[in-house]
Amino acid sequence: MLGLVVFGTCLFGIYTRPVDFLATVWPANAVMLGLLLRMPATASRYGWGAATAGFIAADLLTGSPLGKTLILTGANLASIGGAFVVLRMFPREAIRLQTPESVPQLVSAIGFGACMAGLVGSVANPILFSGTALGGWTFWFVTEFANFVAILPVILTARVIPFPRGASAKRLAYLAMPMIALVLTCFASFQIGGPGAVAFPVPALLWAAIVYPRFVTVLLTSVFSFWSLIALSANLFDKMVDVSAEGALISMRLGVSLITLAPLMLASAMAKQKDLIAQLSHLARHDPLSNLLNRRAFGEEVLRLARSCARQAQPYSVLMLDIDHFKSINDRFGHATGDQVISIAAARISACLRGNDIIGRVGGEEFAILLPKCRREQALEVAERIRSAFSQAPVKPERQVAIPVTVSVGLASSEDGSATIEALLEEADRALYRAKHLGRNRAEIHGHAPGWKSV
Ligand code: GH3
Ligand code: MG
Ligand code: MG
Repeated sequence: MLGLVVFGTCLFGIYTRPVDFLATVWPANAVMLGLLLRMPATASRYGWGAATAGFIAADLLTGSPLGKTLILTGANLASIGGAFVVLRMFPREAIRLQTPESVPQLVSAIGFGACMAGLVGSVANPILFSGTALGGWTFWFVTEFANFVAILPVILTARVIPFPRGASAKRLAYLAMPMIALVLTCFASFQIGGPGAVAFPVPALLWAAIVYPRFVTVLLTSVFSFWSLIALSANLFDKMVDVSAEGALISMRLGVSLITLAPLMLASAMAKQKDLIAQLSHLARHDPLSNLLNRRAFGEEVLRLARSCARQAQPYSVLMLDIDHFKSINDRFGHATGDQVISIAAARISACLRGNDIIGRVGGEEFAILLPKCRREQALEVAERIRSAFSQAPVKPERQVAIPVTVSVGLASSEDGSATIEALLEEADRALYRAKHLGRNRAEIHGHAPGWKSV
């Protein structure tokens, strides 16, 4: 597979290169390097052998003499090998552009690979193109570097990004903005031209890095960079730069590559930032013992959901749950076992609920549940299901005997969603007290005679 990919991408480079000159867009090396890193199984002797065959076959079949073919293949392999050796030293998340250090590390690796290509170039330039050694080094280094920067990040970060289906119109407009800005600034850079034009799209690319997932930013940046490289060799930038001067061409290629690095750096720093914020938000909203919502987060969630039920005049119910005689479990088996009982109880209660019900741990061994679009009778069924899940099977903490555990439940409902959540929680709490008072291991409903339909 690696050999075929190399062969195909070489043909692409060969057929798009200017006559008798080195290719501007040479995806083979970056694609092969990306595959070696994403699919480590390809980085074997056979992988390298097949890739070498792919490079040689593509050049020979398109009419290059053997000597030139061997020199160019040597340059490609030296460049890929150099970058691969350096990149392999970095952690996986750095290679996937998920840390603020990713881009400097990536640059050091592809810079080293491009230096290796430059070394071969310094030998090849006098032989193949009757140029100078220094000229060869510079030109090969810059071309290799520009190609790596344009293509490698795409392969390193490629993944399926779901379309934001169900997003509000406001959100979609927010998502469209950086893309629109990018199109407008690219258009302006062609219309206005001049040496500064190549930098016009930079703010839009940075904006994209803030708004979009990493891979989308990388893709847009790569399109920008690819397009600039092609436009450059097709002389579309003639209003901006005189590419017949080799120095200007090299400067532009390097400029485009370095511009590309800015959004990549922002995107990788943002990736780490988003990850940390998600972790912190989870910690701030969840109780570590039960992994349920904590009191504060539960309060926020139920408020939102209760308001939505009120707006739609939908019924909703709340349950308050308390483990019976929990103090005695602590006293008999120790606090650590008590903790395990709470954690197992949380999982057991959650298993009795639907996906859109909300549960939180609101006290030591107390849980609160909001059941949206749920009438009193259905809520009582849920309460009974939970109650019997405990009374029918003891809780078995690790390295402990099975402990019989029962729970008491208080229930309150609003049939048209008009009651406030605070009032309903209060009523459910009172019903819970009554359940305790009437002997525990039972469910009681606020506003109904004791024992109504309950066991
Ligand atoms: P009942 O509810 O049936 O009236 O009796 P109870 O023994 O469960 O009563 P109470 O609610 O007064 O006691 C709860 C106990 O739970 C008191 C406290 O020591 C213990 N507790 C609270 N939080 C934790 C916790 O995180 N871990 C453990 N192991 N125990 C806790
Ligand atoms: Mg209790
Ligand atoms: Mg309690």
